Amino acid sequence: MDCIFCQIVAGKIPSEIIYQDEEVIAFRDINPQAPTHLIIIPRKHIPSLAELSPAELPLIGRMVAVAHKLAREEGITETGYRLVVNYGEWGGQIVPHLHMHLLGGKRLSAKLG
Ligand code: AMP
Ligand code: ZN
Repeated sequence: MDCIFCQIVAGKIPSEIIYQDEEVIAFRDINPQAPTHLIIIPRKHIPSLAELSPAELPLIGRMVAVAHKLAREEGITETGYRLVVNYGEWGGQIVPHLHMHLLGGKRLSAKLG
Protein backbone atom coordinates (compact mmCIF):
# COMPACT_ATOMS: atom_id res chain seq x y z
CA MET A 1 0.00 0.00 0.00
CA ASP A 2 1.89 3.05 -1.17
CA CYS A 3 -0.88 5.65 -0.93
CA ILE A 4 0.20 8.34 1.56
CA PHE A 5 -3.35 9.08 2.67
CA CYS A 6 -4.20 5.37 3.12
CA GLN A 7 -1.12 5.17 5.33
CA ILE A 8 -2.42 8.11 7.38
CA VAL A 9 -5.81 6.35 7.69
CA ALA A 10 -4.01 3.17 8.85
CA GLY A 11 -1.90 5.15 11.33
CA LYS A 12 1.28 4.02 9.58
CA ILE A 13 2.62 7.51 9.09
CA PRO A 14 2.14 10.27 11.63
CA SER A 15 -0.26 13.13 10.99
CA GLU A 16 -2.24 15.60 13.00
CA ILE A 17 -5.64 13.96 12.72
CA ILE A 18 -8.29 16.31 14.02
CA TYR A 19 -11.44 14.43 13.10
CA GLN A 20 -12.49 10.88 12.32
CA ASP A 21 -15.66 8.86 11.95
CA GLU A 22 -16.55 5.58 10.19
CA GLU A 23 -16.18 7.08 6.75
CA VAL A 24 -14.19 10.30 6.89
CA ILE A 25 -10.89 11.52 8.37
CA ALA A 26 -9.44 15.03 8.53
CA PHE A 27 -5.91 16.15 9.32
CA ARG A 28 -3.71 19.23 9.00
CA ASP A 29 -1.93 19.72 5.71
CA ILE A 30 1.81 19.18 6.12
CA ASN A 31 2.55 22.21 3.94
CA PRO A 32 -0.16 24.70 4.91
CA GLN A 33 -1.16 27.40 2.39
CA ALA A 34 -3.21 29.33 4.96
CA PRO A 35 -3.40 29.58 8.79
CA THR A 36 -6.06 26.86 8.65
CA HIS A 37 -5.36 24.23 5.99
CA LEU A 38 -7.09 20.92 6.59
CA ILE A 39 -7.40 17.86 4.37
CA ILE A 40 -10.66 15.90 4.49
CA ILE A 41 -10.65 12.40 2.98
CA PRO A 42 -12.77 9.26 2.81
CA ARG A 43 -11.20 6.32 4.67
CA LYS A 44 -11.81 4.26 1.57
CA HIS A 45 -9.20 4.54 -1.15
CA ILE A 46 -10.98 6.33 -3.99
CA PRO A 47 -8.29 7.74 -6.30
CA SER A 48 -10.16 10.79 -7.58
CA LEU A 49 -13.56 12.24 -8.42
CA ALA A 50 -13.49 10.10 -11.58
CA GLU A 51 -13.73 6.87 -9.57
CA LEU A 52 -16.50 8.03 -7.28
CA SER A 53 -19.47 5.71 -7.93
CA PRO A 54 -23.07 6.94 -7.72
CA ALA A 55 -23.46 4.98 -4.48
CA GLU A 56 -20.45 6.81 -3.04
CA LEU A 57 -21.71 10.30 -3.88
CA PRO A 58 -23.11 10.90 -0.37
CA LEU A 59 -19.50 10.78 0.84
CA ILE A 60 -18.92 14.18 -0.74
CA GLY A 61 -21.81 15.59 1.26
CA ARG A 62 -20.36 14.12 4.44
CA MET A 63 -16.96 15.62 3.64
CA VAL A 64 -18.53 19.05 3.12
CA ALA A 65 -20.48 18.76 6.39
CA VAL A 66 -17.31 17.72 8.26
CA ALA A 67 -15.42 20.60 6.65
CA HIS A 68 -17.99 23.13 7.85
CA LYS A 69 -18.01 21.68 11.36
CA LEU A 70 -14.20 21.84 11.49
CA ALA A 71 -14.24 25.39 10.11
CA ARG A 72 -16.55 26.34 12.98
CA GLU A 73 -14.18 24.68 15.45
CA GLU A 74 -11.26 26.56 13.89
CA GLY A 75 -13.20 29.80 14.37
CA ILE A 76 -13.19 30.72 10.68
CA THR A 77 -16.85 30.57 9.74
CA GLU A 78 -17.36 34.28 10.53
CA THR A 79 -14.59 35.39 8.19
CA GLY A 80 -15.11 32.60 5.67
CA TYR A 81 -13.19 29.78 4.11
CA ARG A 82 -12.67 27.91 0.84
CA LEU A 83 -13.17 24.22 -0.06
CA VAL A 84 -11.14 22.88 -2.98
CA VAL A 85 -10.99 19.51 -4.74
CA ASN A 86 -8.17 19.24 -7.26
CA TYR A 87 -8.53 16.83 -10.16
CA GLY A 88 -6.01 15.73 -12.74
CA GLU A 89 -2.70 17.17 -13.78
CA TRP A 90 -3.86 20.65 -14.72
CA GLY A 91 -6.19 20.80 -11.73
CA GLY A 92 -3.18 20.15 -9.51
CA GLN A 93 -4.09 16.81 -7.92
CA ILE A 94 -0.86 15.28 -6.65
CA VAL A 95 -2.02 12.74 -4.07
CA PRO A 96 -4.15 10.07 -5.79
CA HIS A 97 -6.61 9.60 -2.93
CA LEU A 98 -9.75 11.76 -3.14
CA HIS A 99 -9.44 14.74 -0.79
CA MET A 100 -10.90 18.15 -0.06
CA HIS A 101 -8.83 21.12 1.09
CA LEU A 102 -10.30 23.47 3.69
CA LEU A 103 -8.48 26.80 3.65
CA GLY A 104 -9.08 29.82 5.83
CA GLY A 105 -7.81 32.07 8.57
CA LYS A 106 -6.70 34.75 6.12
CA ARG A 107 -8.26 36.62 3.23
CA LEU A 108 -7.74 34.21 0.33
CA SER A 109 -6.76 35.27 -3.16
CA ALA A 110 -9.76 36.13 -5.30
CA LYS A 111 -7.93 34.54 -8.20
CA LEU A 112 -8.86 30.86 -8.55
CA GLY A 113 -6.75 29.92 -11.49
P1 AMP B 1 -3.28 17.92 -3.99
O1 AMP B 1 -2.31 18.81 -4.69
O2 AMP B 1 -4.70 18.39 -4.10
O3 AMP B 1 -3.11 16.46 -4.35
O4 AMP B 1 -2.96 18.11 -2.45
C1 AMP B 1 -2.24 17.20 -1.69
C2 AMP B 1 -1.99 17.87 -0.35
O5 AMP B 1 -1.58 16.89 0.57
C3 AMP B 1 -0.88 18.94 -0.40
O6 AMP B 1 -1.41 20.19 0.07
C4 AMP B 1 0.19 18.39 0.54
O7 AMP B 1 0.84 19.40 1.30
C5 AMP B 1 -0.62 17.45 1.42
N1 AMP B 1 0.14 16.36 1.99
C6 AMP B 1 0.98 15.52 1.35
N2 AMP B 1 1.51 14.62 2.21
C7 AMP B 1 0.96 14.88 3.42
C8 AMP B 1 1.09 14.30 4.72
N3 AMP B 1 1.89 13.25 4.94
N4 AMP B 1 0.39 14.85 5.74
C9 AMP B 1 -0.40 15.91 5.53
N5 AMP B 1 -0.60 16.50 4.33
C10 AMP B 1 0.09 15.99 3.29
ZN1 ZN C 1 -5.41 5.89 -0.54
